[in-house]
Amino acid sequence: MTRATRATINLRALQHNLTIARQHAPGSRLMAIIKANGYGHGMVEVAQALDDADAFGVASIDEAISLREAGIPQAVVLLEGFVRADELRLIDGYQLQPVIHHPDQIAILEQTPGPALDLWLKVDTGMHRLGIAPQETPAMLTRLLNCPRVASVRLMTHLANADDREDDYTLEQIRRFETLDDLSVTARSIANSAGLLGWSQSKSDWARPGIMLYGASPFINSVGEQQDLQPVMTLRSQLIAVNRHGTGEPIGYGGSWRCPEAMPVGVVAIGYGDGYPRHVPSGTPVLLGGKRVPIVGRVSMDMLCLDLRECPDATIGDEVILWGEGLPVEEIATAAGTIAYELLCKVTSRVDFEYVHH
Ligand SMILES: *Cc1c(COP(=O)(O)O)cnc(C)c1O
Repeated sequence: MTRATRATINLRALQHNLTIARQHAPGSRLMAIIKANGYGHGMVEVAQALDDADAFGVASIDEAISLREAGIPQAVVLLEGFVRADELRLIDGYQLQPVIHHPDQIAILEQTPGPALDLWLKVDTGMHRLGIAPQETPAMLTRLLNCPRVASVRLMTHLANADDREDDYTLEQIRRFETLDDLSVTARSIANSAGLLGWSQSKSDWARPGIMLYGASPFINSVGEQQDLQPVMTLRSQLIAVNRHGTGEPIGYGGSWRCPEAMPVGVVAIGYGDGYPRHVPSGTPVLLGGKRVPIVGRVSMDMLCLDLRECPDATIGDEVILWGEGLPVEEIATAAGTIAYELLCKVTSRVDFEYVHH
């Protein structure tokens, strides 16, 4: 059996979503965030389709090198910077822009001769993951500007709670960033997707949209469509069996679900081995012939089962959509107790990816 399980990546939807990002911040430049293999969509394909982006943000040097080897010309920002001095050779060679978030990195720059770099200085305004405390930032900036290794410095920070539009911690973070307004830097950046779409106070010279480019909403209890975003990934498979089972018969591992009556049960060739979350409860929908149909029983590695009582005509070979066009990934993520980011990133390598432009 060849597996019909595949992810269709709609590059036109991706470009549409970048246009929406531009409309929300017409005066800003956009650093498209494509770390983690383009949030699972294929990093190089995403970068090529987003040729209108002003820069790309990635997590690691390996990701950045893949972009350069594919001929991507834009600025590439290393969101986690570097850890060791020898990484600077790659940063120099591939003309990457590291984020400086720790004094140890400044010491490395001061001690390692080489060309002058364009870089970013990250301020910790309250996320408490990476960054320099606001009160230490002026001194760190002075050190950088005095270092022959530094050509220019842009200032950035990252929002911790912007996905919750009710949480005014975001305003507190912006206020702390504004205490650095009189520092002499080339540019500033605050907003991720949630900042761009929901917090106009976070707009500045650069925005860094990630999840919204892939069509998912950054906000809790909302879907991308509400922001005019279009889903980029549609995850599909097919029915490989339709069986009838009697009243009270258990379905799948552990028999966690039992047939309330004699009924048809469909089997779909997708499971957690493909990245579909094992934790969704019975009742989580898939799309079959455009109709929502509930999953029953536990998701297994290669398969999951459907209640076909409302689909008397369903037959082997019918296409099933797990998320994407017509079924928001945010909804499946909520059912699985996680966020769309995780589901999109975790589609596994055994799923075939096809890239389309419509
Ligand atoms: C991942 C990331 C982003 C993008 O965040 P989204 O919520 O996906 O828009 C922006 N900035 C930094 C520093 C990041 O790590």
